[in-house]
Amino acid sequence: MKPTLVIFIDALSYESRKIVLDQIKIFKEDIRLIPEIGYSSNQHWSIFAAKLPDELDYFTDYNLVCDASEITIGAYLKHNNILNTVLNYISNKIGKRTSNVPIGLKKIFVNKSIYPLLDKNNFFSLDSIWRSFELYRINRPEEMEMLGELCRQKMSEKSFIVINTLDHAGHMKIPFSNDYNDVLTRIMAKIKGVVDAFLLQYGESSNVIMLSDHGMTPVNSYIDLVLEKEFGPQCTDSYLYFLDATLCRIWTFSDQIKKQLYEYMNKKEYGRIISDEERRYYGIKKRLFGDIIFVLNPGCIFKPNYFGYGLKREVKGMHGYMPTEKTQHGLFMSNVTKEKKHESERNINVMSMIRNRLL
Ligand SMILES: [Zn+2]
Repeated sequence: MKPTLVIFIDALSYESRKIVLDQIKIFKEDIRLIPEIGYSSNQHWSIFAAKLPDELDYFTDYNLVCDASEITIGAYLKHNNILNTVLNYISNKIGKRTSNVPIGLKKIFVNKSIYPLLDKNNFFSLDSIWRSFELYRINRPEEMEMLGELCRQKMSEKSFIVINTLDHAGHMKIPFSNDYNDVLTRIMAKIKGVVDAFLLQYGESSNVIMLSDHGMTPVNSYIDLVLEKEFGPQCTDSYLYFLDATLCRIWTFSDQIKKQLYEYMNKKEYGRIISDEERRYYGIKKRLFGDIIFVLNPGCIFKPNYFGYGLKREVKGMHGYMPTEKTQHGLFMSNVTKEKKHESERNINVMSMIRNRLL
């Protein structure tokens, strides 16, 4: 393999490609990447290991951890109960880092996610191709400094850089607004320096690939879904549900309640149920992931949202919608022209694209 620089930018949307291409002129292809369903903890495995949730055994960060027969909930706090919010808030304030999952559901829904780009061990457990790469990553606030330093030091002949600053900016600023584009422009200016330094060190014919996992969609509507109002308290002989940012997953424990919940959710105009055929296609077939998986329309977000820690500002952008939404699409660019040009590709096929270009 020739010297290779891979730059991964979390949440760089295909919609923003002009800003990238204006600054970095070496790319000979820009391919639209169609994400899978779910969040980064699944997208990264699909891109860099070609594994979908059914194979990974987890879907989204929080997963139901046991069979219904083993669950004892007792009297627990309803998901939108103010006491729940206050107790979680106090726990965080006194330094006991606790998620926003309602107190009564914390034992049932556990964070099982593995972010493979966070550390070398997990990175090396992805596709074998990555074992020869040096991973450059740092906590988000220091990413720009890291890029500055990489320009000045000798990089590894096979370098893999991870940048999360744009994902954070996309949640906090309105995606594609001037403020947001300023952040992207600043990141790209730094990355241009790194690319130039790498090509200077290893020669103009080195491989450079830049890619992302998904895009970012502006948020304009908050959805408060309280199934208890219609179906009574959650319990293990009727139903359980979990609210992620854009997904509601429901587990049912009788055919009757399943039918009722299906019909109820099916009428909601702010989203739709993912069909069995789609669940097969996206590799989220396992019942463990929910009997009903409901995804919000682009721009909507659940509130409350169990994902995250502490009381946060309302987000301005989100990902995790249906992959058909254009603002959700990611981007793959390279200076390699080994393959016939194509317009778009699914995340699950990116690993074979990379192999075709590098090996
Ligand atoms: Zn994100």
